[in-house]
Amino acid sequence: MNELVTKINKLKKEKNAVILAHCYQNVEIDEVADFVGDSLYLSQMAAKTSADIILFAGVYFMAQTAKILNPAKKVLLPRLESGCRMADMISLNQLREFKRENPDIPAVCYINSTAEVKSECDICCTSSNAIKIVDSLKSEKVLFLPDTYLGKWVEKQLGNVKVITYPGFCPTHLQIRPEDISNARKQYPDALVLSHPECHHTVTELSDYVGSTTGIMKYAAESKNKSFIIATEKGVVDRLKRDYPEKEFILIKDNIICPNMKWHNLIDIYNSLEKEEHEINVDSNIAEKALKCINRMLEVSK
Ligand code: SF4
Repeated sequence: MNELVTKINKLKKEKNAVILAHCYQNVEIDEVADFVGDSLYLSQMAAKTSADIILFAGVYFMAQTAKILNPAKKVLLPRLESGCRMADMISLNQLREFKRENPDIPAVCYINSTAEVKSECDICCTSSNAIKIVDSLKSEKVLFLPDTYLGKWVEKQLGNVKVITYPGFCPTHLQIRPEDISNARKQYPDALVLSHPECHHTVTELSDYVGSTTGIMKYAAESKNKSFIIATEKGVVDRLKRDYPEKEFILIKDNIICPNMKWHNLIDIYNSLEKEEHEINVDSNIAEKALKCINRMLEVSK
Protein backbone atom coordinates (compact mmCIF):
# COMPACT_ATOMS: atom_id res chain seq x y z
CA MET A 1 0.00 0.00 0.00
CA ASN A 2 2.79 2.43 0.99
CA GLU A 3 4.58 1.68 -2.27
CA LEU A 4 1.45 2.62 -4.22
CA VAL A 5 1.11 5.86 -2.25
CA THR A 6 4.75 6.69 -3.08
CA LYS A 7 4.19 5.93 -6.77
CA ILE A 8 1.05 8.08 -6.94
CA ASN A 9 2.76 10.98 -5.19
CA LYS A 10 5.71 10.72 -7.62
CA LEU A 11 3.33 10.73 -10.62
CA LYS A 12 1.53 13.77 -9.20
CA LYS A 13 4.79 15.71 -9.14
CA GLU A 14 5.90 14.59 -12.60
CA LYS A 15 2.55 15.50 -14.16
CA ASN A 16 1.76 18.58 -12.04
CA ALA A 17 -1.45 16.90 -10.92
CA VAL A 18 -3.67 17.51 -7.95
CA ILE A 19 -6.01 14.99 -6.30
CA LEU A 20 -9.32 16.15 -4.85
CA ALA A 21 -11.17 13.63 -2.65
CA HIS A 22 -14.70 13.81 -1.28
CA CYS A 23 -15.09 12.76 2.33
CA TYR A 24 -17.41 9.88 1.37
CA GLN A 25 -14.51 8.21 -0.48
CA ASN A 26 -12.64 5.18 0.85
CA VAL A 27 -10.54 6.65 3.64
CA GLU A 28 -7.15 5.35 2.36
CA ILE A 29 -7.48 7.76 -0.60
CA ASP A 30 -6.77 10.64 1.81
CA GLU A 31 -3.13 9.47 1.84
CA VAL A 32 -2.65 10.73 -1.72
CA ALA A 33 -5.21 13.55 -1.74
CA ASP A 34 -4.16 17.19 -1.78
CA PHE A 35 -7.59 18.31 -0.63
CA VAL A 36 -10.29 16.34 1.17
CA GLY A 37 -13.69 17.82 1.88
CA ASP A 38 -17.27 18.38 0.85
CA SER A 39 -18.56 19.61 -2.51
CA LEU A 40 -18.26 23.31 -1.70
CA TYR A 41 -14.68 23.07 -0.48
CA LEU A 42 -13.63 20.90 -3.42
CA SER A 43 -15.29 23.27 -5.93
CA GLN A 44 -13.41 26.17 -4.34
CA MET A 45 -10.12 24.23 -4.54
CA ALA A 46 -10.85 23.23 -8.17
CA ALA A 47 -11.39 26.90 -9.00
CA LYS A 48 -8.04 27.89 -7.47
CA THR A 49 -5.66 25.14 -8.58
CA SER A 50 -2.71 25.82 -10.87
CA ALA A 51 -2.20 22.10 -11.59
CA ASP A 52 -2.36 20.81 -15.17
CA ILE A 53 -4.31 17.70 -14.22
CA ILE A 54 -7.13 17.41 -11.69
CA LEU A 55 -7.92 13.88 -10.61
CA PHE A 56 -11.29 13.74 -8.88
CA ALA A 57 -11.87 10.99 -6.34
CA GLY A 58 -15.57 11.63 -6.16
CA VAL A 59 -18.61 11.18 -8.37
CA TYR A 60 -19.26 12.22 -11.96
CA PHE A 61 -20.97 15.57 -11.35
CA MET A 62 -18.01 16.68 -9.18
CA ALA A 63 -15.54 15.97 -11.98
CA GLN A 64 -17.84 17.81 -14.42
CA THR A 65 -17.89 20.82 -12.08
CA ALA A 66 -14.09 20.80 -11.90
CA LYS A 67 -13.90 20.68 -15.72
CA ILE A 68 -16.39 23.55 -16.10
CA LEU A 69 -14.27 25.63 -13.73
CA ASN A 70 -11.04 24.62 -15.50
CA PRO A 71 -11.80 24.15 -19.22
CA ALA A 72 -8.12 24.18 -20.20
CA LYS A 73 -7.11 21.49 -17.69
CA LYS A 74 -7.35 17.75 -17.92
CA VAL A 75 -9.88 16.37 -15.44
CA LEU A 76 -9.78 12.66 -14.66
CA LEU A 77 -12.34 10.42 -12.95
CA PRO A 78 -10.64 7.09 -12.15
CA ARG A 79 -13.86 5.02 -12.46
CA LEU A 80 -16.58 6.23 -14.81
CA GLU A 81 -19.15 4.13 -12.93
CA SER A 82 -19.07 6.74 -10.15
CA GLY A 83 -22.35 8.47 -10.79
CA CYS A 84 -24.80 10.00 -8.33
CA ARG A 85 -28.24 8.42 -8.15
CA MET A 86 -29.77 11.69 -6.96
CA ALA A 87 -28.22 13.74 -9.80
CA ASP A 88 -29.58 11.22 -12.31
CA MET A 89 -33.14 11.78 -11.06
CA ILE A 90 -33.58 14.95 -13.11
CA SER A 91 -32.84 15.33 -16.82
CA LEU A 92 -32.81 18.55 -18.80
CA ASN A 93 -36.31 17.81 -20.14
CA GLN A 94 -37.63 17.14 -16.65
CA LEU A 95 -36.11 20.40 -15.46
CA ARG A 96 -37.77 22.29 -18.31
CA GLU A 97 -41.12 20.70 -17.45
CA PHE A 98 -40.66 21.61 -13.75
CA LYS A 99 -39.94 25.23 -14.76
CA ARG A 100 -42.93 25.30 -17.15
CA GLU A 101 -45.21 24.16 -14.33
CA ASN A 102 -43.79 26.89 -12.04
CA PRO A 103 -43.04 29.87 -14.29
CA ASP A 104 -41.06 33.00 -13.39
CA ILE A 105 -39.50 31.58 -10.23
CA PRO A 106 -35.70 31.43 -9.83
CA ALA A 107 -34.30 27.88 -9.96
CA VAL A 108 -31.63 26.68 -7.52
CA CYS A 109 -29.93 23.39 -8.28
CA TYR A 110 -28.04 21.37 -5.73
CA ILE A 111 -24.46 20.83 -6.91
CA ASN A 112 -25.49 17.15 -7.16
CA SER A 113 -26.85 17.69 -10.67
CA THR A 114 -25.54 17.27 -14.20
CA ALA A 115 -23.85 20.04 -16.20
CA GLU A 116 -26.93 20.17 -18.49
CA VAL A 117 -29.22 20.82 -15.54
CA LYS A 118 -26.88 23.45 -14.10
CA SER A 119 -26.82 25.19 -17.48
CA GLU A 120 -30.53 26.05 -17.13
CA CYS A 121 -30.61 27.03 -13.45
CA ASP A 122 -30.01 30.47 -11.96
CA ILE A 123 -27.60 29.39 -9.24
CA CYS A 124 -26.38 26.21 -7.61
CA CYS A 125 -25.69 25.39 -3.98
CA THR A 126 -24.18 22.75 -1.73
CA SER A 127 -25.51 21.53 1.60
CA SER A 128 -22.96 23.87 3.26
CA ASN A 129 -24.33 27.03 1.70
CA ALA A 130 -27.92 26.18 0.63
CA ILE A 131 -29.56 28.51 3.18
CA LYS A 132 -27.32 31.42 2.20
CA ILE A 133 -27.85 30.82 -1.53
CA VAL A 134 -31.66 30.61 -1.35
CA ASP A 135 -31.74 33.67 0.91
CA SER A 136 -29.48 35.61 -1.51
CA LEU A 137 -32.16 35.43 -4.23
CA LYS A 138 -34.52 37.67 -2.20
CA SER A 139 -37.47 35.94 -3.80
CA GLU A 140 -40.74 34.89 -2.12
CA LYS A 141 -40.65 31.60 -4.04
CA VAL A 142 -37.74 29.48 -5.21
CA LEU A 143 -37.56 26.25 -7.23
CA PHE A 144 -35.16 23.73 -5.69
CA LEU A 145 -33.85 20.55 -7.33
CA PRO A 146 -33.18 17.67 -7.33
CA ASP A 147 -33.20 17.05 -3.53
CA THR A 148 -36.62 17.60 -2.03
CA TYR A 149 -35.39 17.03 1.56
CA LEU A 150 -32.57 19.57 1.42
CA GLY A 151 -34.95 22.05 -0.20
CA LYS A 152 -37.62 21.61 2.46
CA TRP A 153 -35.03 21.81 5.23
CA VAL A 154 -33.83 25.15 3.80
CA GLU A 155 -37.43 26.39 3.68
CA LYS A 156 -37.88 25.53 7.36
CA GLN A 157 -34.62 27.26 8.38
CA LEU A 158 -35.45 30.46 6.49
CA GLY A 159 -39.14 30.62 7.32
CA ASN A 160 -39.91 33.39 4.80
CA VAL A 161 -39.39 31.68 1.43
CA LYS A 162 -41.65 29.13 -0.25
CA VAL A 163 -39.31 26.44 -1.60
CA ILE A 164 -40.95 24.42 -4.35
CA THR A 165 -39.03 21.18 -4.56
CA TYR A 166 -38.50 18.58 -7.27
CA PRO A 167 -39.15 15.04 -5.99
CA GLY A 168 -35.51 13.84 -6.03
CA PHE A 169 -33.71 12.25 -3.11
CA CYS A 170 -30.53 10.50 -2.02
CA PRO A 171 -31.20 6.74 -1.77
CA THR A 172 -28.31 6.37 0.68
CA HIS A 173 -29.53 8.98 3.19
CA LEU A 174 -33.15 7.84 2.86
CA GLN A 175 -32.22 4.47 4.30
CA ILE A 176 -32.02 6.21 7.68
CA ARG A 177 -35.37 5.96 9.49
CA PRO A 178 -36.65 7.82 12.57
CA GLU A 179 -36.72 4.51 14.49
CA ASP A 180 -32.97 4.18 13.85
CA ILE A 181 -32.49 7.43 15.76
CA SER A 182 -34.68 6.36 18.69
CA ASN A 183 -33.02 2.93 18.85
CA ALA A 184 -29.54 4.48 18.77
CA ARG A 185 -30.48 6.98 21.47
CA LYS A 186 -31.63 4.12 23.73
CA GLN A 187 -28.34 2.31 23.19
CA TYR A 188 -26.14 5.42 23.51
CA PRO A 189 -28.07 7.82 25.78
CA ASP A 190 -25.16 10.27 26.15
CA ALA A 191 -24.52 10.61 22.42
CA LEU A 192 -25.59 13.58 20.30
CA VAL A 193 -27.25 12.83 16.97
CA LEU A 194 -25.72 14.67 13.99
CA SER A 195 -27.51 14.31 10.65
CA HIS A 196 -27.24 15.51 7.05
CA PRO A 197 -30.07 17.56 5.49
CA GLU A 198 -30.38 14.99 2.67
CA CYS A 199 -32.02 12.76 5.31
CA HIS A 200 -35.81 12.51 5.52
CA HIS A 201 -37.33 15.37 7.57
CA THR A 202 -38.55 12.87 10.20
CA VAL A 203 -34.86 12.09 10.83
CA THR A 204 -33.53 15.66 10.84
CA GLU A 205 -36.35 16.71 13.18
CA LEU A 206 -35.08 14.18 15.75
CA SER A 207 -31.43 15.28 15.46
CA ASP A 208 -29.41 17.51 17.80
CA TYR A 209 -27.55 19.07 14.87
CA VAL A 210 -28.23 19.10 11.13
CA GLY A 211 -25.52 20.17 8.68
CA SER A 212 -23.30 19.38 5.71
CA THR A 213 -20.49 16.85 6.00
CA THR A 214 -18.10 19.68 6.86
CA GLY A 215 -20.63 21.06 9.34
CA ILE A 216 -20.99 17.67 11.03
CA MET A 217 -17.21 17.18 11.24
CA LYS A 218 -16.68 20.66 12.65
CA TYR A 219 -19.49 20.26 15.17
CA ALA A 220 -18.09 16.92 16.39
CA ALA A 221 -14.58 18.37 16.64
CA GLU A 222 -15.64 21.44 18.62
CA SER A 223 -18.31 19.89 20.85
CA LYS A 224 -17.45 19.10 24.46
CA ASN A 225 -19.54 15.96 24.11
CA LYS A 226 -17.57 12.72 23.76
CA SER A 227 -20.04 10.54 21.90
CA PHE A 228 -21.89 11.07 18.60
CA ILE A 229 -24.38 9.12 16.50
CA ILE A 230 -23.68 10.04 12.89
CA ALA A 231 -26.55 9.97 10.40
CA THR A 232 -24.75 10.33 7.09
CA GLU A 233 -22.40 8.37 4.83
CA LYS A 234 -19.87 6.03 6.48
CA GLY A 235 -16.85 7.92 5.07
CA VAL A 236 -17.55 10.75 7.53
CA VAL A 237 -17.45 8.34 10.49
CA ASP A 238 -14.21 6.74 9.23
CA ARG A 239 -12.51 10.15 9.12
CA LEU A 240 -13.91 11.29 12.48
CA LYS A 241 -12.65 8.08 14.15
CA ARG A 242 -9.22 8.58 12.59
CA ASP A 243 -8.97 12.28 13.50
CA TYR A 244 -10.52 12.23 17.01
CA PRO A 245 -9.62 8.86 18.55
CA GLU A 246 -10.48 10.19 22.02
CA LYS A 247 -14.15 10.53 21.01
CA GLU A 248 -16.76 7.91 20.13
CA PHE A 249 -18.52 7.92 16.75
CA ILE A 250 -21.36 5.55 15.97
CA LEU A 251 -22.63 5.14 12.40
CA ILE A 252 -26.43 5.22 12.67
CA LYS A 253 -26.63 1.88 10.85
CA ASP A 254 -24.19 -0.34 9.01
CA ASN A 255 -25.34 0.07 5.43
CA ILE A 256 -25.18 3.88 5.12
CA ILE A 257 -22.70 3.62 2.30
CA CYS A 258 -23.00 5.31 -1.08
CA PRO A 259 -21.92 2.56 -3.51
CA ASN A 260 -20.98 5.09 -6.18
CA MET A 261 -18.63 6.91 -3.83
CA LYS A 262 -16.79 3.66 -3.08
CA TRP A 263 -15.71 2.68 -6.60
CA HIS A 264 -12.29 4.29 -6.50
CA ASN A 265 -9.33 2.66 -4.79
CA LEU A 266 -5.62 3.51 -4.85
CA ILE A 267 -4.96 1.16 -7.78
CA ASP A 268 -7.64 2.93 -9.87
CA ILE A 269 -6.12 6.28 -8.97
CA TYR A 270 -2.64 5.15 -9.97
CA ASN A 271 -3.88 3.71 -13.30
CA SER A 272 -5.95 6.78 -14.09
CA LEU A 273 -3.07 9.15 -13.43
CA GLU A 274 -0.50 7.01 -15.18
CA LYS A 275 -2.56 6.50 -18.36
CA GLU A 276 -4.36 9.87 -18.01
CA GLU A 277 -7.69 8.15 -18.39
CA HIS A 278 -10.81 8.66 -18.00
CA GLU A 279 -10.94 12.25 -19.05
CA ILE A 280 -14.13 14.23 -18.40
CA ASN A 281 -15.27 16.72 -21.03
CA VAL A 282 -18.30 18.98 -21.11
CA ASP A 283 -19.85 20.45 -24.26
CA SER A 284 -18.61 24.06 -24.49
CA ASN A 285 -22.11 25.62 -24.84
CA ILE A 286 -23.39 23.73 -21.81
CA ALA A 287 -20.19 24.47 -19.87
CA GLU A 288 -20.40 28.20 -20.54
CA LYS A 289 -23.95 28.42 -19.16
CA ALA A 290 -23.27 26.03 -16.25
CA LEU A 291 -20.22 28.12 -15.30
CA LYS A 292 -22.43 31.15 -14.66
CA CYS A 293 -24.59 29.05 -12.32
CA ILE A 294 -21.52 27.74 -10.41
CA ASN A 295 -19.69 31.08 -10.33
CA ARG A 296 -22.74 32.81 -8.94
CA MET A 297 -22.69 30.32 -6.06
CA LEU A 298 -18.95 30.82 -5.47
CA GLU A 299 -19.45 34.60 -5.40
CA VAL A 300 -22.24 34.38 -2.82
CA SER A 301 -20.23 31.87 -0.74
CA LYS A 302 -17.13 34.07 -0.42
S1 SF4 B 1 -24.54 9.93 -1.13
FE1 SF4 B 1 -26.43 10.30 -2.31
S2 SF4 B 1 -26.23 12.37 -3.09
FE2 SF4 B 1 -24.17 11.71 -2.43
S3 SF4 B 1 -23.24 10.85 -4.29
FE3 SF4 B 1 -24.22 9.15 -3.21
S4 SF4 B 1 -26.27 9.04 -4.17
FE4 SF4 B 1 -25.42 11.04 -4.71
